[in-house]
Amino acid sequence: HYPQQGKLTVLGAGESGIGTAILARKKGFEVWVSDVGSISGPYKKQLLDAGIPFEEGMHTESRILDSAIVVKSPGIPNTVPIVQKLKGQHTPVIAEIEFAAQYTNAKLICITGSNGKSTTTMLTWHILSQGGLNVGLAGNIGRSFALQVAQEQYDYYVLELSSFMLDDMEYFRADVAVLLNITPDHLDRYDHKLENYVDSKFRIIRNQQPGDLFIYCADDPNTVAGLGEHHVAGAILPFSITEKIEPGAYLNDNNEIVINVPHQDTFTMDINELSLQGKHNVYNNMASGLVAKAQELRNVSMKESMGSFKNIPHRLEFVACIAGVNYINDSKATNVNAVWYALESLAPQIVLIMGGVDKGNDYEMLRDLVQTKVRAIVCIGKDNSRIYDSLEEDARIIVNSSSMRDAVEIASHLAQKGDTVLLSPACASFDWFKNFEDRGDQFKDAVMDL
Ligand code: ADP
Repeated sequence: HYPQQGKLTVLGAGESGIGTAILARKKGFEVWVSDVGSISGPYKKQLLDAGIPFEEGMHTESRILDSAIVVKSPGIPNTVPIVQKLKGQHTPVIAEIEFAAQYTNAKLICITGSNGKSTTTMLTWHILSQGGLNVGLAGNIGRSFALQVAQEQYDYYVLELSSFMLDDMEYFRADVAVLLNITPDHLDRYDHKLENYVDSKFRIIRNQQPGDLFIYCADDPNTVAGLGEHHVAGAILPFSITEKIEPGAYLNDNNEIVINVPHQDTFTMDINELSLQGKHNVYNNMASGLVAKAQELRNVSMKESMGSFKNIPHRLEFVACIAGVNYINDSKATNVNAVWYALESLAPQIVLIMGGVDKGNDYEMLRDLVQTKVRAIVCIGKDNSRIYDSLEEDARIIVNSSSMRDAVEIASHLAQKGDTVLLSPACASFDWFKNFEDRGDQFKDAVMDL
């Protein structure tokens, strides 16, 4: 679908841009990299080592417009003038994943959803690699997909795909597509229309063929509604904790996950033996387990992996127990749904630290859990008026703080023995912090200093 030779410009010299440049050079393109900012040292060295020309601090428009194809970093919006001009003259402007996918025969296992992508991607990768498959990890996570394709290392890839990444893909085909859930998030980028966001998530099955697989959550109303609107070419494997689904995955009366994939033996595992706890992680394990069983992994190996997996930081991460109070860092909870699952999966009483940059959140869904499980809410971030408006009546105590350190201090005084202090902000972090990792790290530092 795209030119296979000629001038190729890479816009943006980050992880994906450098990988793309190296792969494109290997495939015989005349490659050039352009970044309006400065290129960081290690990336610059990789370009110099590979002998790939580049510019930084500017975009030389004439040279970019002279390309046969342009691969753009996901951070550059389609609205910037240079992208608009390229599109105006019908030069293909594509994403790293779409570009690199042309050059691999590896099986692509792609994971998307509003919440749980990173966890499920890592978990799937863990199960498959522990099971002996030669599998790479890429997408929103890990090293550049294009670079790994250039090195031709893997037979399988587990790719975490955000809706922004999916939006930039036209011909990409997922051998296995996993859609975890669709709850309102980033609606500001989708004209505030849920259906646009649902369409974006369903792009994960676009271009699928018979023989491909679509794994999705049958309990998720937006996914089920979206199913009626989109063509599904591959075989489906739904998962549910409320109804018995075969083939697919469900929870039986003994609280065991049951996974049935055609032509494979049945997998069962008690949810208490899963290393990741909480209802949301039952879903994530079902999704990963379905992927693994469909790749014919052995039950013993899957069980061992699902029982031993250690999640990446900032997702319901246990920090410390101080004076009988547990401190949990869930900084990655950047929307209300993730907070709901955090509150749902923890025992009462909880002192909840939340707030930050509101993305048009609807806090209504938290009201019941706040009434029953939350001892106090400590707000962080610049403007928490919407949290006050929505939850003031339900929260027994709601207070503001002036910094993360202050919030942890206040929370430690409000918490009683046996309580949990939970950082689960529901909001973006960039008012007080660099990013969600910085927010979580500051929380952990403040807890350790208590
Ligand atoms: P993503 O990569 O989609 O942001 P993460 O795995 O990093 O997802 O988790 C983000 C937040 O969502 C964490 O607070 C986590 O506890 C919560 N979460 C994880 N899985 C799910 C799920 N299946 N449904 C709802 N929330 C989830």
